[in-house]
Amino acid sequence: MSPRSHHSAVWSAAIAALALFAGCEAPAGVVARRSPGYTAQAKQPQATEPRPGPAQGAGAAVPPGAVTQMETAASAGEGAWDAERLMGHIRQLSSDEFEGRGPATRGEELTVAYLERQFRELGLEPGNPDGTYFQNVPLVGFLGSPQAQFQVGNLPLPLEFPRDYVALSRKMVPETQVLDSELVFVGYGVVAPEYNWDDFKDVDVRGKTVVMLINDPAVMDASDPTRFDDSAFRGRAMTYYGRWTYKYEIASQKGAKAVLIIHDEQPAGYPYEVVEGSWSRENFDIVDAQAIASRVEVEGWLRNDIADKLFKACGQDLSQLQQAAKQRDFRPVPLKARFDCKIANRLRQVQSKNMVAKITGQGPRSDEFVVYTAHWDHLGRDEKVTQGDGIYNGALDNASGVGGLLEIARAFASKAHRPPRSVLFLATTAEEKGLLGSKYYATHPLVPLERTLADINMDGLNAWGPTKDLIVIGMGQTTLEDSLADIARQMGRELRPDSEPEKGFFYRSDHFEFAKRGVPAIHFDSGDDYLGQSPEYGRERKQAYTTNDYHKPSDEVRDDWDLSGAIQDLRMLFRLGLHVASDAGWPQWKPGSEFESVRLQMLGERN
Ligand SMILES: [Zn+2]
Repeated sequence: MSPRSHHSAVWSAAIAALALFAGCEAPAGVVARRSPGYTAQAKQPQATEPRPGPAQGAGAAVPPGAVTQMETAASAGEGAWDAERLMGHIRQLSSDEFEGRGPATRGEELTVAYLERQFRELGLEPGNPDGTYFQNVPLVGFLGSPQAQFQVGNLPLPLEFPRDYVALSRKMVPETQVLDSELVFVGYGVVAPEYNWDDFKDVDVRGKTVVMLINDPAVMDASDPTRFDDSAFRGRAMTYYGRWTYKYEIASQKGAKAVLIIHDEQPAGYPYEVVEGSWSRENFDIVDAQAIASRVEVEGWLRNDIADKLFKACGQDLSQLQQAAKQRDFRPVPLKARFDCKIANRLRQVQSKNMVAKITGQGPRSDEFVVYTAHWDHLGRDEKVTQGDGIYNGALDNASGVGGLLEIARAFASKAHRPPRSVLFLATTAEEKGLLGSKYYATHPLVPLERTLADINMDGLNAWGPTKDLIVIGMGQTTLEDSLADIARQMGRELRPDSEPEKGFFYRSDHFEFAKRGVPAIHFDSGDDYLGQSPEYGRERKQAYTTNDYHKPSDEVRDDWDLSGAIQDLRMLFRLGLHVASDAGWPQWKPGSEFESVRLQMLGERN
């Protein structure tokens, strides 16, 4: 058992211990904090710390999501919930007719038409100031056919695509080639001055092919090697340094010719087939000449056992080097091998769409916004698949989240009184291609980010019944969690932290593009504590989904789905958005969050 998984077991025990408290009192630090501005008992405004954002003290502070006496459940937006209708959206969006909702396919046409019809039927306003329900997102599609091999001394080590490796080029030219490039193992490939960490040291990797481990350095506590050193890379949690996108960015900065990440299922969080599936089809990027010019020529992944074979052939031991890479004094190790790779690229410019609708707030704060996001796209259809239909239906990922977005919009639309702030419902494109729709929105926002108070993101709802809990991904980031914890308590539920922070889920969906640019953002996973089920039930269902269906054609609606839990979660998210749209205070990043400084700077410039 690796230290990482050992630690994981310790952590699971801690989570289980927290769960024991669930029936009586909130575990400290999980649901005990109040959002600033009121106490649940007294409903009196408290002295608040100064915080960024205008409108301080304007409007009465009310408990998040509380239904006032003047409103009935229906006029408060609480009467509109219906699991069957949610299921209807999911069935439609994940139907074979919608062909897996690939951007710039017939599946997109059907999806955006469906969303526009729903927006109109709900009486929502167009979210684009130009009067439409969409934002054009110009993308370039590229499909590479790579041919590659290693040369170890005089011996070629042939590679079969995509079984052994995947590789693509974002140079956006018809042909790319890397010839006879020296291989260097650079550990995790991380340069993090705040942790006094530099895997490259003084080694010049220009023109070379760098080989890296996935995740950030698993630094163990010097006095207890079974524990993570919490002062480095947030201990067990993954930082952005662990993401594959970072790996390619740093390789580009270092002037490398090519980069190959060694796939490893546990730290990556998904099996190699997931990489193989997503990287051997057409990929997309935002058209940005400057970004393209500075990119490394070839970006790829190597299957773990192929990497093993390569290192052995070079007289190296990969597992020993993996240990060495956890040390601050690690130095790059030249491998006695070279890399050849030729990629023929089929390029095309395509237009995709973010879909966006709005409810305008009532009164002087209507130029301030709460955004809900859910990506409408999935992996489309793979013509090469000969077994089955090759349609990646993406029922859970993310027809369910889009259905949830529509149902939350319905709840807002059914309210007799609009909240003071406006609410934007944004169904993004090309999330599966690297968060491209949300990245495009965040760099071309339809309403200013400095007047956007929060992003509430949905990516996969709970399909397996009611739960006691709701999991916040990357817990500890924003005060949105505290508001949501209050809402959970009012509803007899509780929040829990993500039990796998090492997998970096906070960096893996659309809210991250908002976070990166400073907007407080929150993202969820369904709970683990299913009512009337064994304690293992939730995690077993999720594990089975990840192994069998995640990013596979089999992500389809199942007969045994029960969306009552999803409805519970959506009601909480509705109340959270309503609270942010109504309460005087602005959500904030918590001190120490890597996104706090961007937000403070943005708001400082504005004031
Ligand atoms: Zn998704």
